[in-house]
Amino acid sequence: MLDQRQRLNLLLAALPGLLIMLFAWHLASQRALDEAMREGRHRLDMHAANLAATLDQYRYLPYVLSLNHDVLALLDAPADAARRDLVNRYLDDVNTRSHTAALFVTNADGKALASSNWRSPYSFVGNSYAFRPYFLDARAGQPGRFYGIGTTSRDPGYFLSWPIRKLDGNVIGVAVVKVSLSPLEAAWRKGGEAILVSDRHGVAFLSAMPEWKFSSWQPLPGAVQSQLIRTRQYEGATLHPMPLQPRQAGWLLPLDAPALLGGRFLRLDHALPDSGWTLSLLLDMRAWRDGLLTQLAAALASYLALLALWHYRRQRWRRLTEQLAARQALQQAHDNLERKVAERTGELASANQRLSAEIAERQRTEDNLRATRSQLAEASKLAAMGQMAAGIAHEVNQPLSALRTFTENAGTLLERGQPERVADNLQQILQLVDRMAHITGDLKTFARRNRAEQGRADIAAALRGSLRLLEPELSAAGIRASLQLAPDCPPVPGDMTGLEQVFTNLISNALAALRGQPNAVIHFRLECTEGEAVLQVTDNGPGFAETDLPHLFEPFFTTKPRGYGLGLGLAIVQEIMAQSGGDIRAANLPAGGACFTLRWPLKAPHEHH
Ligand code: ADP
Repeated sequence: MLDQRQRLNLLLAALPGLLIMLFAWHLASQRALDEAMREGRHRLDMHAANLAATLDQYRYLPYVLSLNHDVLALLDAPADAARRDLVNRYLDDVNTRSHTAALFVTNADGKALASSNWRSPYSFVGNSYAFRPYFLDARAGQPGRFYGIGTTSRDPGYFLSWPIRKLDGNVIGVAVVKVSLSPLEAAWRKGGEAILVSDRHGVAFLSAMPEWKFSSWQPLPGAVQSQLIRTRQYEGATLHPMPLQPRQAGWLLPLDAPALLGGRFLRLDHALPDSGWTLSLLLDMRAWRDGLLTQLAAALASYLALLALWHYRRQRWRRLTEQLAARQALQQAHDNLERKVAERTGELASANQRLSAEIAERQRTEDNLRATRSQLAEASKLAAMGQMAAGIAHEVNQPLSALRTFTENAGTLLERGQPERVADNLQQILQLVDRMAHITGDLKTFARRNRAEQGRADIAAALRGSLRLLEPELSAAGIRASLQLAPDCPPVPGDMTGLEQVFTNLISNALAALRGQPNAVIHFRLECTEGEAVLQVTDNGPGFAETDLPHLFEPFFTTKPRGYGLGLGLAIVQEIMAQSGGDIRAANLPAGGACFTLRWPLKAPHEHH
């Protein structure tokens, strides 16, 4: 879940918080401890006052006994049974009324003469208490006080004594009150107070807890032990070391916390100077410590929760910033792209502009060229016209002068009376006239070509017509025409006359080329596709010289000797083909021989896209 770095971060983040919390907890526990101690001390004071009051309550009682006349009378005559009986009853009565444990009177030797419990099996009467400190104190003229276990009754009690004096001041006896402190112990026990009272030697003789009773806080020195034996103070009780030994409360408590008894009780002492006793209140710190620990746990838990929240928030924040950064990067990339696109668009636009300018420039150049070309065309037309005029003049002059010669000859022959030779001359004249008619016919067609009407014409029909027309010449020259025509070829743009002219020209040229050729054949192959009609006209003649190929269709280009062709035939053919929207090309067959390929579109030009 967390990687090494995150864990370290968390720890570093948690450390100051933990330290602060530790310090705060230390302060809080210190305060709590002070509070508990203050409160405990208050209670201790109360208990001390209570104990002092309880003890004080009976202080006067032995003094009052020492003043009693019956008691004094008994001490005067100890053997007097009547007096003893009287004192016994008196003591019993006072004892009952003042709720003390016992009242008794001893003589100067410490022997009990009368006692409130004279009737009980544990009667003190006749016993000697000379060894008891309270007796010794009183015998010496001092009021005595002593806590010890009764040597007769085995009941522990607080003994208060007073010297009984004669009028001369001599101590003749001692009056003693024994007070039981058991009710006090019971009250403490009931109140849940861990209280004990220890003597000047550190022996706890009163305790709310029975197990702590007659235990000593520290080992008793030998002198003290022998004194205890002599005074029989705690006779019958086994003294043992205090089971609660001071122990450090543990690392969770404040550093300077006092050691606790049994790791649990805090001991508060109150010295009672009158008796040399020490009243100790044992504060049970377990609940206090548990409360503290609970607080600490709660604080720790909430701190950890806060830390977790903080960590979660931080993670979330980091994720958010990362997302934001990613989005910004994306936005930037997008902006960059947009800027680039804009730049490119700008470049494109300027390139476009440059291109348009270039195109316009080209257009202008082209226009100029076209103008120049049309000028050139004009010029070449004029040149052509000159050439043509020269050609025509030449073509026509020759037959004309020949005609003149023949005609003069014919006249001469007629004058000479040789008519059979005139016929021969006339035949020559006819041939010349035919030639001239042919020339003028060519010129007529050339002149007429632009006026041709556009319609639809059938290729096969036109071809057959032309062949029929030239059939006599072909068979005379021994030339075979072979036809391979696709049936049902749709008509092509143009008119019948135009088409016939095309074919007549082509056949005439082939005728000229094939003259004297054995096995001469002109082959026609017509094919129709969806888009066009293609006619190939081939012959097995000599074909074209490579250098002539580019010039074949130019007007007045001819390889024929003067007087045999104007060089207009193929130009006219090309013109007619162009008017139909088609074209014509010339090539040499691989095996030799000319090949003309003619194409017509099968759809009208305006139907083309
Ligand atoms: P002309 O027939 O008056 O010479 P054309 O324009 O009809 O003019 O022909 C130009 C030239 O093309 C011819 O002089 C000839 O050299 C060449 N020519 C045309 N048809 C053929 C062919 N079938 N075989 C060889 N040469 C040809």
